[in-house]
Amino acid sequence: MTLCCGADVGATATKVVLVDETSAVMARVVMPSGIDYAATAEACLVSALAQASAAREQLAATVATGYGRYQVKFAQSVQTEIHCHGLGCFHLVQRPVTVVDIGGQDNKVITIGADGRRVHFKMNRKCAAGTGAFLEEIALRLGLPPSELERLASGAGEAVRLSSFCTVFAKTEILSHLARGVPVTEIIRGAFHSVVARIVEMDPLEGEVVMTGGVVAHNPTVAAILAERIGRPVAIAPDPQFVGALGAALVAWQNARQSDGGAPDAGRSL
Ligand code: ADP
Repeated sequence: MTLCCGADVGATATKVVLVDETSAVMARVVMPSGIDYAATAEACLVSALAQASAAREQLAATVATGYGRYQVKFAQSVQTEIHCHGLGCFHLVQRPVTVVDIGGQDNKVITIGADGRRVHFKMNRKCAAGTGAFLEEIALRLGLPPSELERLASGAGEAVRLSSFCTVFAKTEILSHLARGVPVTEIIRGAFHSVVARIVEMDPLEGEVVMTGGVVAHNPTVAAILAERIGRPVAIAPDPQFVGALGAALVAWQNARQSDGGAPDAGRSL
């Protein structure tokens, strides 16, 4: 079995996906990126190879993406996150789609046309508003692990209105809500609404919307709130945190086939 590897080194989490010749996913691994991106990517690869019962020699190509992509020593090339998320999501849905990716430190909106090509994109990497980092800060302020947010927010209920996307102002506002005895569940839903408000402010989100990234992987209520907000269904991609790594693995296959002299998989290229 020949495999290709996609390594998505995010500012928060590193994801590695191994894909076979038929584009089937044979392994997926996620680890906190930590401070040594090269070592984390290597640890993810070792674990992914074990999951697939494969040897390193079976890898035909590796493409790295994400914030720390230049640190992946075993990658032969790099590709942007915009390209990889768009390609990975189009591969999964095979339709024109607007991808909303919410990561640990950034968020992006990518529109893909019927031919799989990117029509436009917007990306925010300048501030924590509307990202996983915002939710992590709120969880810290509430004395909760981030993994508790979804359970507390998912029941139907009211949401407090946070008047600013800004993490610093939101944290101050939360203190005053706590002082007034507002239930924590309403504060967390308010934080989810704030993430959604930031996304909607970034882009009009035309067409079918599919969400990716670690935030919706762990907090699907964020997608439900976005659906309410835009008045249309919002889907969550399968294995949403791995869509960028999947896209990178598909680019690796395109590269491997091209260097073999075969035609690239044009139907799936962006
Ligand atoms: P990046 O690629 O920018 O590193 P990801 O798309 O991997 O980001 O998403 C990371 C985000 O996912 C974190 O900031 C956090 O909000 C969320 N997340 C990751 N793991 C968990 C968890 N166990 N519980 C709750 N949220 C999580």
